[in-house]
Amino acid sequence: METRKLVDLPSSVEIERCPFCGALRVRGRYVDKDAETLLREMAEEYLAKGRVVEGLDRVRVLEVRALETTATVKLSAEVGGVGVVQELLVELRVRRSPCPRCLRVRGRSYEAIVQLRAGNPRGRTLIAEIAKGFSSVEGVVEVKELSEGVDIYVVDRATALRLVREVESSYVARVTTTWEGPRIRAGRRRSKAVYSVRVYSLSPGDIVEIRGREY
Ligand SMILES: [Zn+2]
Repeated sequence: METRKLVDLPSSVEIERCPFCGALRVRGRYVDKDAETLLREMAEEYLAKGRVVEGLDRVRVLEVRALETTATVKLSAEVGGVGVVQELLVELRVRRSPCPRCLRVRGRSYEAIVQLRAGNPRGRTLIAEIAKGFSSVEGVVEVKELSEGVDIYVVDRATALRLVREVESSYVARVTTTWEGPRIRAGRRRSKAVYSVRVYSLSPGDIVEIRGREY
Protein backbone atom coordinates (compact mmCIF):
# COMPACT_ATOMS: atom_id res chain seq x y z
CA MET A 1 0.00 0.00 0.00
CA GLU A 2 1.29 3.39 -0.90
CA THR A 3 1.45 5.71 2.07
CA ARG A 4 -0.18 9.04 1.45
CA LYS A 5 1.73 12.13 2.35
CA LEU A 6 0.04 13.86 5.28
CA VAL A 7 1.11 17.20 3.90
CA ASP A 8 1.47 17.97 0.21
CA LEU A 9 5.15 19.00 0.48
CA PRO A 10 7.24 19.17 -2.71
CA SER A 11 9.62 16.25 -3.16
CA SER A 12 12.46 18.58 -4.03
CA VAL A 13 13.33 22.16 -3.12
CA GLU A 14 15.90 24.41 -4.74
CA ILE A 15 17.90 26.53 -2.34
CA GLU A 16 20.28 29.34 -3.26
CA ARG A 17 23.14 29.68 -0.82
CA CYS A 18 26.03 32.12 -0.59
CA PRO A 19 29.23 30.03 -0.75
CA PHE A 20 31.04 32.47 1.55
CA CYS A 21 28.73 33.24 4.47
CA GLY A 22 26.11 30.54 4.01
CA ALA A 23 23.18 32.98 3.83
CA LEU A 24 20.15 31.59 2.03
CA ARG A 25 18.20 33.47 -0.58
CA VAL A 26 14.52 33.63 0.22
CA ARG A 27 12.13 35.43 -2.11
CA GLY A 28 14.91 37.46 -3.65
CA ARG A 29 16.61 38.43 -0.37
CA TYR A 30 19.51 36.86 1.49
CA VAL A 31 18.69 35.89 5.04
CA ASP A 32 20.75 34.51 7.89
CA LYS A 33 18.90 31.23 8.19
CA ASP A 34 19.82 27.61 7.92
CA ALA A 35 18.14 25.14 5.60
CA GLU A 36 16.29 23.49 8.50
CA THR A 37 14.64 26.74 9.58
CA LEU A 38 13.77 27.51 5.98
CA LEU A 39 12.16 24.10 5.45
CA ARG A 40 10.30 24.26 8.75
CA GLU A 41 8.82 27.61 7.75
CA MET A 42 7.90 26.22 4.37
CA ALA A 43 6.20 23.18 5.92
CA GLU A 44 4.30 25.39 8.36
CA GLU A 45 3.19 27.58 5.48
CA TYR A 46 1.78 24.48 3.76
CA LEU A 47 -0.10 23.60 6.95
CA ALA A 48 -1.46 27.13 7.25
CA LYS A 49 -2.67 26.95 3.65
CA GLY A 50 -4.46 23.71 4.47
CA ARG A 51 -2.46 21.56 2.06
CA VAL A 52 -3.00 18.49 4.21
CA VAL A 53 -4.87 15.22 3.74
CA GLU A 54 -8.58 15.54 4.51
CA GLY A 55 -9.75 14.33 7.91
CA LEU A 56 -6.53 15.14 9.75
CA ASP A 57 -6.49 17.01 13.03
CA ARG A 58 -3.69 18.70 14.93
CA VAL A 59 -1.14 18.51 12.14
CA ARG A 60 2.22 19.69 13.41
CA VAL A 61 5.80 19.86 12.21
CA LEU A 62 7.76 17.92 14.84
CA GLU A 63 11.27 18.13 13.50
CA VAL A 64 13.23 19.08 10.40
CA ARG A 65 16.65 17.65 9.73
CA ALA A 66 18.72 18.72 6.75
CA LEU A 67 21.79 16.99 5.35
CA GLU A 68 23.79 18.03 2.29
CA THR A 69 21.30 17.02 -0.38
CA THR A 70 18.30 15.70 1.52
CA ALA A 71 16.09 16.72 4.39
CA THR A 72 13.48 14.93 6.44
CA VAL A 73 10.37 16.66 7.71
CA LYS A 74 8.77 14.80 10.62
CA LEU A 75 5.06 15.44 11.00
CA SER A 76 2.47 14.41 13.52
CA ALA A 77 -1.30 14.41 13.19
CA GLU A 78 -4.44 12.76 14.47
CA VAL A 79 -6.87 10.68 12.44
CA GLY A 80 -10.10 9.99 14.30
CA GLY A 81 -8.36 10.52 17.61
CA VAL A 82 -5.43 8.24 16.74
CA GLY A 83 -1.99 9.79 16.54
CA VAL A 84 0.15 9.27 13.46
CA VAL A 85 3.72 10.30 12.76
CA GLN A 86 5.25 10.52 9.31
CA GLU A 87 8.66 11.44 7.96
CA LEU A 88 8.75 13.02 4.53
CA LEU A 89 11.91 13.12 2.48
CA VAL A 90 12.70 16.32 0.59
CA GLU A 91 15.53 16.51 -1.91
CA LEU A 92 17.62 19.67 -1.52
CA ARG A 93 19.13 21.16 -4.63
CA VAL A 94 21.60 23.78 -3.46
CA ARG A 95 22.77 26.39 -5.93
CA ARG A 96 25.80 28.51 -5.10
CA SER A 97 25.07 32.16 -5.49
CA PRO A 98 27.20 34.76 -3.70
CA CYS A 99 25.27 37.36 -1.72
CA PRO A 100 25.82 41.07 -2.52
CA ARG A 101 27.43 41.71 0.86
CA CYS A 102 30.12 39.07 0.39
CA LEU A 103 30.78 40.27 -3.14
CA ARG A 104 31.26 43.79 -1.77
CA VAL A 105 33.47 42.69 1.13
CA ARG A 106 35.63 40.63 -1.16
CA GLY A 107 35.88 43.57 -3.53
CA ARG A 108 35.75 41.30 -6.50
CA SER A 109 33.43 38.62 -7.57
CA TYR A 110 35.80 36.41 -9.50
CA GLU A 111 39.32 36.22 -10.84
CA ALA A 112 38.84 33.70 -13.59
CA ILE A 113 36.24 32.21 -15.87
CA VAL A 114 36.39 28.65 -17.09
CA GLN A 115 34.40 28.47 -20.29
CA LEU A 116 33.40 24.93 -21.10
CA ARG A 117 32.56 24.50 -24.76
CA ALA A 118 31.66 21.42 -26.74
CA GLY A 119 34.37 20.55 -29.26
CA ASN A 120 31.95 18.34 -31.16
CA PRO A 121 28.15 17.88 -30.93
CA ARG A 122 28.46 14.95 -28.53
CA GLY A 123 30.62 17.08 -26.26
CA ARG A 124 27.54 18.96 -25.06
CA THR A 125 26.45 16.21 -22.68
CA LEU A 126 30.00 15.95 -21.40
CA ILE A 127 30.32 19.62 -20.51
CA ALA A 128 26.95 19.54 -18.74
CA GLU A 129 28.24 16.67 -16.59
CA ILE A 130 31.56 18.38 -15.90
CA ALA A 131 29.82 21.65 -14.97
CA LYS A 132 27.51 19.82 -12.60
CA GLY A 133 30.48 18.31 -10.80
CA PHE A 134 32.27 21.66 -10.59
CA SER A 135 29.28 23.59 -9.24
CA SER A 136 29.93 22.35 -5.71
CA VAL A 137 33.69 23.02 -5.73
CA GLU A 138 34.81 25.55 -3.11
CA GLY A 139 35.68 28.81 -4.85
CA VAL A 140 33.21 28.41 -7.69
CA VAL A 141 30.91 31.39 -7.34
CA GLU A 142 28.63 30.97 -10.27
CA VAL A 143 27.80 28.50 -13.00
CA LYS A 144 26.11 30.11 -15.99
CA GLU A 145 24.48 27.99 -18.63
CA LEU A 146 24.58 29.63 -22.04
CA SER A 147 23.53 28.50 -25.48
CA GLU A 148 27.20 28.09 -26.46
CA GLY A 149 28.25 26.21 -23.34
CA VAL A 150 28.77 26.74 -19.63
CA ASP A 151 30.71 29.58 -17.96
CA ILE A 152 32.13 28.86 -14.52
CA TYR A 153 33.12 31.89 -12.43
CA VAL A 154 35.91 31.17 -9.99
CA VAL A 155 37.14 33.30 -7.08
CA ASP A 156 40.86 32.69 -7.66
CA ARG A 157 43.01 31.67 -10.59
CA ALA A 158 44.60 28.72 -8.78
CA THR A 159 41.24 27.03 -8.35
CA ALA A 160 40.32 27.79 -11.95
CA LEU A 161 43.56 26.22 -13.17
CA ARG A 162 42.92 23.16 -11.05
CA LEU A 163 39.53 22.72 -12.73
CA VAL A 164 41.08 23.20 -16.16
CA ARG A 165 43.76 20.57 -15.45
CA GLU A 166 41.12 18.18 -14.18
CA VAL A 167 39.26 18.44 -17.48
CA GLU A 168 42.49 18.11 -19.47
CA SER A 169 43.54 14.97 -17.64
CA SER A 170 40.18 13.22 -17.91
CA TYR A 171 38.99 14.23 -21.37
CA VAL A 172 40.24 15.16 -24.78
CA ALA A 173 40.26 18.92 -24.46
CA ARG A 174 41.87 21.98 -25.93
CA VAL A 175 42.52 24.98 -23.72
CA THR A 176 43.14 28.56 -24.74
CA THR A 177 43.82 31.35 -22.26
CA THR A 178 42.92 34.98 -22.77
CA TRP A 179 42.84 37.98 -20.46
CA GLU A 180 39.96 40.26 -19.89
CA GLY A 181 40.44 43.89 -18.88
CA PRO A 182 43.67 45.76 -18.11
CA ARG A 183 46.50 43.45 -17.25
CA ILE A 184 48.30 45.68 -14.80
CA ARG A 185 46.73 48.62 -13.04
CA ALA A 186 48.38 50.56 -10.22
CA GLY A 187 51.02 47.86 -10.07
CA ARG A 188 48.47 45.15 -9.44
CA ARG A 189 47.15 42.54 -11.74
CA ARG A 190 43.48 43.29 -12.08
CA SER A 191 42.55 41.42 -15.18
CA LYS A 192 40.55 38.25 -15.24
CA ALA A 193 41.80 35.06 -16.80
CA VAL A 194 39.48 33.38 -19.25
CA TYR A 195 40.17 29.71 -19.88
CA SER A 196 38.27 28.46 -22.86
CA VAL A 197 38.10 24.68 -22.66
CA ARG A 198 36.87 22.80 -25.70
CA VAL A 199 35.85 19.29 -24.73
CA TYR A 200 35.52 16.49 -27.26
CA SER A 201 33.40 13.43 -26.68
CA LEU A 202 35.03 10.58 -28.55
CA SER A 203 34.12 6.99 -29.21
CA PRO A 204 36.67 4.33 -30.08
CA GLY A 205 37.54 4.72 -33.74
CA ASP A 206 36.86 8.47 -33.89
CA ILE A 207 39.71 10.52 -35.23
CA VAL A 208 39.88 14.13 -34.24
CA GLU A 209 42.70 16.43 -35.07
CA ILE A 210 43.45 19.12 -32.53
CA ARG A 211 46.31 21.43 -33.38
CA GLY A 212 47.88 18.87 -35.64
CA ARG A 213 47.70 16.12 -33.08
CA GLU A 214 45.45 13.17 -33.76
CA TYR A 215 43.37 11.44 -31.13
ZN1 LIG B 1 27.44 35.93 1.68
